[in-house]
Amino acid sequence: MITRAEFMQRATSMALAAAAMHRASAANATPPNIVFILADDIGYGDLGCYGATKVKTPNLDRIAREGVKCADAHSPAAVCTPTRYGFITGQYAWRNPKGDRILSGVAPLAVPTNMPTVASVLKDAGYATGIVGKWHLGFGTDETPVDYNKDIAPGPLDLGFDYAFVIPATGDRVPCVYVENRRVVGLDPNDPIQVSYGAKVGDDPTGLEHPELLKIKADKSHSQTIVNGVSRIGYMSGGNAARWVDEDMADTITAKAISFIERSKEKPFFLFFSTHDIHEPMVPNSRFRGTSECGWRGDVIHQLDWSVGQVLDALDKNGLAENTLVIFSSDNGGAIKDTYDDGTNGLHALQPPNGALRGQKGDLCEGGHRVPFVARWPGRIAPNSTSSATFALVDMMATFSAAAEKSLAANAGPDSFNVLPALVGDAKAEALRNHLVMQSNLSHTLAIRKGPWKLIVHRPPKSPDSPSFLLFNLDEDPAESKDLSRKSPEKLKELNALLESIIARGHSRPGYGEVS
Ligand code: CA
Repeated sequence: MITRAEFMQRATSMALAAAAMHRASAANATPPNIVFILADDIGYGDLGCYGATKVKTPNLDRIAREGVKCADAHSPAAVCTPTRYGFITGQYAWRNPKGDRILSGVAPLAVPTNMPTVASVLKDAGYATGIVGKWHLGFGTDETPVDYNKDIAPGPLDLGFDYAFVIPATGDRVPCVYVENRRVVGLDPNDPIQVSYGAKVGDDPTGLEHPELLKIKADKSHSQTIVNGVSRIGYMSGGNAARWVDEDMADTITAKAISFIERSKEKPFFLFFSTHDIHEPMVPNSRFRGTSECGWRGDVIHQLDWSVGQVLDALDKNGLAENTLVIFSSDNGGAIKDTYDDGTNGLHALQPPNGALRGQKGDLCEGGHRVPFVARWPGRIAPNSTSSATFALVDMMATFSAAAEKSLAANAGPDSFNVLPALVGDAKAEALRNHLVMQSNLSHTLAIRKGPWKLIVHRPPKSPDSPSFLLFNLDEDPAESKDLSRKSPEKLKELNALLESIIARGHSRPGYGEVS
């Protein structure tokens, strides 16, 4: 019989030995593949593992069950483009006026081509790198705007991606075609594409002129050129053979994601799978129509979950699951108001997209930017674990570098913190970041988090006499119903000074710019 002290000593030494073995095997192992799945407009309350009951998300729930579910992860912005800019560059988008707002389908590339990106960092580490799905970061330059009939550059291939199969902007924006590497897929040169976000081009009917041609109704801003029975933002003509079919989009991009995995499996690979679901227009394939209890919005969540399941199956079938870090998250909170009306919008309220959080996509309330985040990495991330660490998708560059056991270059990821310890359950992980900045759809409206405190700042002030601050304590008031800006002026001052210093310094990552 051993004493308790002896037992504890043995247990400790066994744990230390196991940890040493784990470190040794991790150091010798092939760097993990990284699959980052970024859904569009999925809210904090939209997944079964985050409490949804009217939709079923077994594949997404499987990632959480086999890995970690994070409670306080954020998109760095409450809308698409600036979040994607932040993810790709590790820099807050509000630092760059080219990427700090929702872009059109003819905007120039928002990311400077000499800037390290999440793809270039991994490519330099020996990874095969691919993006499949939504891009929405622009193509071309101010001097040479994108021409969809020619080679399309610069774009993702100039930012470290070896392969790209992308939706140029959004599902609701023209041009409604796929771009593979540098060319529009299936374009007939005798039917050239024209795109305009100003005056109408071509003779295609618009939603405003011909609402009788629409399969779903739209508001005025989404009522320009009709493609596949859906009116869009912006005008396009030509490219008829290349136009996508919304109902087939999930099938198309999921197949491309899987074929990238299958042909890249001999090398470590990084796949950025950027789904269209569940952005508007929500036009589910007939396989998913009517399968949820909350209309087409729920049906496209089922479609998204199917896509994720296909990717997980491909990893399993190819023997890759064990050495692959899979992450699923969203580029902003869920939208409550619909700009398209498919006849099922009334059903959406049966399941609040953002759960109990206040606000929605575009807002600086938590519903705008607190997002689901689940991650699986067998052997490194404990099954069924949870994390309450505060972090954002801008942190993925430093986190992926750490997973690949590469140190981040001094000039990479100015605002990117390594949050891998939060995912793998390091006890010290809760304080990896003691500040985090989010933007709304307007880059001058920012929120800063520090611990439970959150300050929303309208910059510049709306007027010298009107308060431009909202202060909340999320631990005591998760619904952000009690503004404490008058009650806690010292806290307001502290957070505002911290925000001002992060803005003025031009970066926030410790070690950024330091040459060792
Ligand atoms: Ca979005």
